[in-house]
Amino acid sequence: MDNITTETIGVLGGTFDPPHLGHLIVGDQVLHALGLDMVLLVPANNPWQKAGTRSITSAERRLEMTEVAVGDAYGLSVSGIELEMGGPSYTSVTLDALSEKYPKASWRVIVGADAALGLDSWHNVDKLRTQAEIVVVNRPGADFQPPTGWQWDLVEIPSVNISGTGLRRRVEQGHSIRFLTPEPVVERILKWNLYRD
Ligand code: ATP
Ligand code: MG
Repeated sequence: MDNITTETIGVLGGTFDPPHLGHLIVGDQVLHALGLDMVLLVPANNPWQKAGTRSITSAERRLEMTEVAVGDAYGLSVSGIELEMGGPSYTSVTLDALSEKYPKASWRVIVGADAALGLDSWHNVDKLRTQAEIVVVNRPGADFQPPTGWQWDLVEIPSVNISGTGLRRRVEQGHSIRFLTPEPVVERILKWNLYRD
């Protein structure tokens, strides 16, 4: 009886620097397309694959922005588990920790087509393949490649040409980001003077 799964949960991990409508649309579309019980947005504590390439907003601020971005959106939730665990964030380890909180869950790891291309470089990839199925969503500028060696699904979403990189650049150049991310995120970015240099 122990391993009967009673819920299926999607995990959308990322840097969320900042979170934006693309993340919310991905989460909501996959939630509905696959009939998931919930999608968890999980900000990375220390995005090790990006470390060193640019200065990353503190994990606490990225978590807060993700929480206010999601608000009370149906079926979407935010987990601070990677901050609680500390250190570098690895999806395989995160799923082990989440499984303690949701012992009856089966897991879907959601990735944009760009992130799907790098799956095989993820930490503990052989274990991860046994922990979750992969859900790939289309993303402008990234070709879809079926992830070989994984149980996977493709969910086609209305393509959203919004990215964290694009938002940071817009802020840096003094352009508006309104309606590209929920207003409470815009407020945090202004209040904390993010992405200005
Ligand atoms: P950055 O430009 O800083 O990399 P990002 O917009 O890619 O930011 P991430 O936090 O890196 O945001 O992305 C988390 C996950 O969400 C990844 O799997 C990414 O592919 C996916 N994702 C983000 N934006 C979109 C989008 N517009 N369409 C589809 N998938 C997206
Ligand atoms: Mg990215």
